[in-house]
Amino acid sequence: MIFDVQTILKTEGARANVQVSLLPPEEFSGGEIEFCGELSFSGVIENVGGVLELSGEAKGSFAVPCARCMKITTQHYCVAISETYAHENAEGVDLEAVLTFVGTSIDLGEAIWPNVLLSIDTKYLCQPSCKGLCPMCGADLNETSCDCAEDEIDPRLAGLADLLK
Ligand SMILES: [Zn+2]
Ligand SMILES: [Zn+2]
Repeated sequence: MIFDVQTILKTEGARANVQVSLLPPEEFSGGEIEFCGELSFSGVIENVGGVLELSGEAKGSFAVPCARCMKITTQHYCVAISETYAHENAEGVDLEAVLTFVGTSIDLGEAIWPNVLLSIDTKYLCQPSCKGLCPMCGADLNETSCDCAEDEIDPRLAGLADLLK
């Protein structure tokens, strides 16, 4: 998402509201996490001493398999964004430490998506009490029970164990 910053570029202290929706980049699809629809960002961009400071909040949701039962679960995110952009010809700015732009437009996705990705955990559960899958037969223990655990105390097997002594 390209955002035109021409109106605030030349004036220190100038600011503009930023209300945009971003579609997830194509390279995000096909992974374990699937973003659902657009991300919505609401914030401001301000000219502070010649650089542009973007701040605000990015919200959206993604689908991810439960770490225990593999059922697809929807998770919502709300991530605070605080990033600095500087024109690539800016003087007196450490360009390694900021996002750079050419001309009069910035790419908002460059500031927003990396922060959203960083906020995502490696594991999600469909519910805190998810019982997961039976490690023996693969049954979803949230929806059904299986005989695997009971077999360990099956009296017939206990008798067999006695015979083998
Ligand atoms: Zn689960
Ligand atoms: Zn089982």
